[in-house]
Amino acid sequence: RIVYVNGTYVPEAEAKLSVFDRGLLFADAVYEVTAVIDGKLLDFPGHMARLRRSLAELRLPSPGSDQEILAIHRELLARNALTQGHIYLMVTRGEADRDFVWPKDGTPPSFVLFTQKRDAIETREAVEGLRVITVPDLRWGRRDIKTVQLLYPSLAKMEAKSRGKDDAWMVEDGTVTEGTSNNAYIVTQDGTIVTRALGHDILHGITRAAIMKVAGELALHVEERPFTVAEAQGAREAFITSAGAFVTPVVEIDGTPIGDGRPGPITRRLRAAYLEAALAQAI
Ligand code: PLP
Repeated sequence: RIVYVNGTYVPEAEAKLSVFDRGLLFADAVYEVTAVIDGKLLDFPGHMARLRRSLAELRLPSPGSDQEILAIHRELLARNALTQGHIYLMVTRGEADRDFVWPKDGTPPSFVLFTQKRDAIETREAVEGLRVITVPDLRWGRRDIKTVQLLYPSLAKMEAKSRGKDDAWMVEDGTVTEGTSNNAYIVTQDGTIVTRALGHDILHGITRAAIMKVAGELALHVEERPFTVAEAQGAREAFITSAGAFVTPVVEIDGTPIGDGRPGPITRRLRAAYLEAALAQAI
């Protein structure tokens, strides 16, 4: 692959960042992942808006304008002949001798982007659904900032895999916050879509925002409120959303099948409608 590092496009084996980079030493960095279908970027303006917010919350310097960042995305797609997959983007506070105090103003951020290929849109998970476990949410209190502190979600996902399952939903004060790398939803027996309201306790998913719009267009009722694991286990359907998974059904929670244990019709409609709407606006 050709990757982008601080202004240059280089083969991945030649890409270099300092061992003193604060992204490495302090997870002092934010990121975005944008989906690519048919060579086009899905929800790009949303990802840029969230990046700006993450940067501002951590007082990280901007690595460039939205137009410049779009140009880098397009150049990477072209150089890697990528038509289906993702582009990962990361901004770190740059290189400085190890110190909890930030380096002086003017220290350039590190800016890295790379592509990841996706073989199929309709993956096994999308068709058959995910089996999730629940784990306590032990992350920090500002999950609305998309930082690269992903150790706990990674451990949680490994715990799910070690038990033969696909992913984990995290639980705080008795209610589900979100998945390890996705937002979590249920469909109640009366057909209402329920997902946690935005706050500091979850990431403000770009796919979530798109799904809310699509649900409105399909005249589906959405409630933004917390739900318990027991309510989820008694739901008619469950699903997750992310730039990586789009809308993916959840068919089992802690060993309990959801509905009839197969992906539900509302989830399937939302997935199709999301992909159609996102592709229509892709750039
Ligand atoms: N929640 C968490 C913790 C995530 O890591 C992600 C995506 O990486 C999401 C939700 C979904 O966000 P998006 O739809 O913007 O990909």
